[in-house]
Amino acid sequence: MSFPYEAPVSQSLFDRASAVTPGGVNSPVRAFRAVGGTPRFMVSGTGPYLTDADGREYVDLVCSWGPMILGHSHPEVIAAVQEAVARGTSFGTPGAGEVELAEEIVARIEPVEQVRLVSSGTEATMSAIRLARGFTGRPKVIKFAGCYHGHVDALLAAAGSGVATFGLPDTPGVTGAQAGDTIVLPYNDLEAVRAAFAAHPGEIACVITEASPGNMGVVPPLPGFNQGLKDLCAAGGALYISDEVMTGFRVSKAGWYGIDGVRPDLMTFGKVMGGGFPAAAFGGRADVMAHLAPAGPVYQAGTLSGNPIATAAGVAQLRLLDDAAYEKVDAVSAELRGLVTAALAKEGVAHRLQVAGNMFSVFFTDAEVTDYDAAKAQESFRFTAFFHSMLEQGVYLPPSAFESWFVSTAHDTAAVERIAAALPAAARAAAGATA
Ligand code: PLP
Repeated sequence: MSFPYEAPVSQSLFDRASAVTPGGVNSPVRAFRAVGGTPRFMVSGTGPYLTDADGREYVDLVCSWGPMILGHSHPEVIAAVQEAVARGTSFGTPGAGEVELAEEIVARIEPVEQVRLVSSGTEATMSAIRLARGFTGRPKVIKFAGCYHGHVDALLAAAGSGVATFGLPDTPGVTGAQAGDTIVLPYNDLEAVRAAFAAHPGEIACVITEASPGNMGVVPPLPGFNQGLKDLCAAGGALYISDEVMTGFRVSKAGWYGIDGVRPDLMTFGKVMGGGFPAAAFGGRADVMAHLAPAGPVYQAGTLSGNPIATAAGVAQLRLLDDAAYEKVDAVSAELRGLVTAALAKEGVAHRLQVAGNMFSVFFTDAEVTDYDAAKAQESFRFTAFFHSMLEQGVYLPPSAFESWFVSTAHDTAAVERIAAALPAAARAAAGATA
């Protein structure tokens, strides 16, 4: 595939970046390897738009992979950050901002009785797993193929996101010992979970699952799946960990828990709660959280945990996320889905739109996608053509067929119209694509 609309300034930045940074990026999916071409180096964002180093504007359907649910540079979030910065950037002591953010989280998500702040979703899931093992005194963890929980050694087995994008079988550098206690099962398969509990009595510390997976594309849990996990965990003496790093504060005020109501023992959060800054968290049952240092023996710490700028941004963002904000995001998402499916149908492109709240993704296949194998079976070459046509026309999609698309309260009629105008050509490109 040739890219006649290459971006010279981005290209030169990418060349410089590639000399000093592996693959030229600090997180693999950003590199455009799955779709080809030059990754766009963005210099600014306002509302639903991003501007790249060549001065081109895009409607952003990535939203920093979820966090920018109010759009870019929301004035109230920026003001809160500026006020916080003026007071100092890090103290290494407790601060009021972290109390406020913790209180916001606890107030919104009923199963979270106590919460610990960290700086990334990876840290949140890593710490939740350690806590589950420390609490239960058991070694094994069940995870699902295609679910991504950050780059935690033990959780990189059959992971989604970049691992799915690049089709990596497993990651060198993770030893057998580190992954040996991880049991990977097909998603949406309760029988497999039941069999694993039967095969390892008294050994399973926890089941960790994305509350509704978005890292193999959007593959929601089948009805009863999360409740079944919860019940099997309860019966087997294991903890049920719901990873809401992606869905938390995005799909509703209380995340996916607000939609399915299945009560986890522990939950993990990131993305939206940091307002675009590195802030994440894990929390849940007070009796379990009481095992964390300094209250209990399970160690966990962070120099920048609860950073005052990140917590100020997070508190400001969460306080703006009222019912009306979620209604707005849901409505934009529904409108876009309608436009995408109409454009693809018009060109006769086999596809499925899968939805979880306001998150959605397009699979280029006729079949329902309920697990990772089905996700991988789609015709991703059609996505590549679709992606580049949209990019050329000023719409920035996730550069992978295995990622959710994200919208914000800032995606107004003008932004939606720009997307609508780009879709017919992109659908034609998808229709004409060859493997
Ligand atoms: N868990 C889920 C469900 C995620 O989607 C991600 C990142 O996309 C993570 C964990 C890891 O978060 P981070 O990239 O902040 O380490």
